[in-house]
Amino acid sequence: MTPAQADPGKRHRVVIVGAGFGGLEATYRLAGAPVSITLVDRRNHHLFQPLLYQVATASLATSEIAWPIRYLLRDRPEVTTLFATVSGVDAQNKRVLLEDGDALPYDTLLLATGARHAYFGHDEWEPFAPGLKTLEDATTLRRRILVAFERAERESDPARRAALMTFVIIGAGPTGVELAGTIAELARDTLPPDFRNIDTHSARVVLIEAGPRVLAGFSDDLSAYAQRGLESLGVEVMLGKAVTECNADGVMYGGEQLQAKTLIWAAGVRASPAAEWLGAAADRAGRLQVEPDLTVSGHPDIFAIGDTVTINGPDAKPVPGIAPAAKQQGRYVAAAIRARLRGEQPAPFRYQHSGSLAQIGKRKAVIDFGRIKLRGAVAWWIWGIAHIYFLIGLRNRLQVAISWLWIHARDQRAARLITQGSSKVVR
Ligand SMILES: Cc1cc2nc3c(=O)[nH]c(=O)nc-3n(C[C@H](O)[C@H](O)[C@H](O)COP(=O)(O)OP(=O)(O)OC[C@H]3O[C@@H](n4cnc5c(N)ncnc54)[C@H](O)[C@@H]3O)c2cc1C
Repeated sequence: MTPAQADPGKRHRVVIVGAGFGGLEATYRLAGAPVSITLVDRRNHHLFQPLLYQVATASLATSEIAWPIRYLLRDRPEVTTLFATVSGVDAQNKRVLLEDGDALPYDTLLLATGARHAYFGHDEWEPFAPGLKTLEDATTLRRRILVAFERAERESDPARRAALMTFVIIGAGPTGVELAGTIAELARDTLPPDFRNIDTHSARVVLIEAGPRVLAGFSDDLSAYAQRGLESLGVEVMLGKAVTECNADGVMYGGEQLQAKTLIWAAGVRASPAAEWLGAAADRAGRLQVEPDLTVSGHPDIFAIGDTVTINGPDAKPVPGIAPAAKQQGRYVAAAIRARLRGEQPAPFRYQHSGSLAQIGKRKAVIDFGRIKLRGAVAWWIWGIAHIYFLIGLRNRLQVAISWLWIHARDQRAARLITQGSSKVVR
C-alpha cells in the first residue's frame, strides 16, 4: 500500500500547512478527492505578495491584495481552516505540532510555509532596515516612508532634513527595483503639491546592490534597460557595493556612510524552519531538499513545496522562488495524492518556467519569457493585465485596475494613510 492510500471507511486526512500560493493551490486542486483537509496558517489571509510593494508605497490598500482564507474556502465542506502557528512535526506519530500545544494527526502532510527575508547573519539590522513579506511589513514601511516626509516638513536643520528625505533600498531584485521606482514617483509626481516647506522632488532614492547589475535574474539587456529606467526616474543605482552596516543614522556601503532615515531591506531570503522540524537536509538558505516527487527524503507521506524547498528544474538550475513555481508544485502534489489514493505512483515533478516580470515605475516594465523579451509600455500593460488576472475576485480586480488608472491619470495614490502609531513615534 502506498503511503496515501485511504483506510476503507475512513477519509484520508491531509494536513496542509500554509495557505500561500502553493498550499492554497493544492487545496483548490484536491476538490472532489476522497480526502478531508485541514489547512493551517498563522495568518487569517492569503496574500498576493507580488503587489505588497504597492501597499508599502501607498498605491493600493491592504484589502486589495489579501483575502480571508476561511472566505476563500467557504464552499468546501471537507476543508477545515485553522488559524494557528505550526511549531514542529512529530513524523513518527504523524502529527503536526501547534505552538499552543495542540497536535493535528495526518495521513499525508504538505508543508508550504514559504520564506522570510534574511540579513546574512546580521539580524541586528532588521529594526533599521525592515523587509517586505507580510501585510504588517508593508504598512510599517508605508508608515516610515510617509512619516519621513511629515518630519522633513517641519525640520529646520538641512542635514537632518536631507537624511529624512533619503530613502535607501538594499537589494536590486524585482522587489527592490519596484520599490525604488515607486518611491521615486511618489516623491516626484504625487507628493509635491501637498507640502509647503519641502520640495519633495529633492528626495533621494538610492538603490544599493552588491552584484554587478539590477534584476540579476533577467537578461543583460533587460537589466540594463531597467537600470536606465530607474535612473530616468531619479533613482541613484549603486552596483557592486555590499552593505556593511545598517543603523539608526543610515547605511554603510562600499566604505561610505550615507545618512538616511528610511532603509528598506530587499536582499536575500531564508526559508521557513520546515527542514529543522524534520531534521532534513537543507541548502544554505534553509530550503529543504526534496525528492523528485516533492516528498521529504525518508518521509514518503510528507510533501514540501514552494519557497521553503529547493529542487532543480529541467535546466539543472534551482526552481526559482516565485509564485508560479509554488502553484505548479501545489498542483503537482494534489495530483500525486489523488494518484496514490488510486494506488498509482505519480511521475516526478517537472517545472515549466513561464517567465519573469518586473515593473519600473508606472509606465514601464520588463518581461523575460526566455526567447521573447519585452520592455517599455507594452511590457507594462502585459505586466498589469497579468497581475490583475491573478488577483482573486472581480471586485479586487476592478478596484486594483481603477487604482492604477487613477495613478496613471492623476498621480494620486489613495492609500497614503499613516497607521500603527502617533506623530511621536518614528523608529
Ligand atoms: C515582496 C515580494 C514580492 C514578490 N514578487 C513576486 C513577483 O512579482 N512574482 C512572483 O512570481 N513571485 C513574487 N514573489 C515571490 C512569491 O510571493 C513566492 O515565491 C510565493 O509566495 C511562494 O509561495 P509559497 O506557497 O511557497 O509561500 P507563501 O506564499 O509565502 O505562503 C506561506 C504561507 O505559510 C504560512 N506560514 C508560514 N509559517 C507558518 C507556520 N509556522 N505556521 C502556520 N503557517 C505558516 C504563511 O503565513 C503563509 O501564508 C514575491 C515575494 C515577495 C515577498
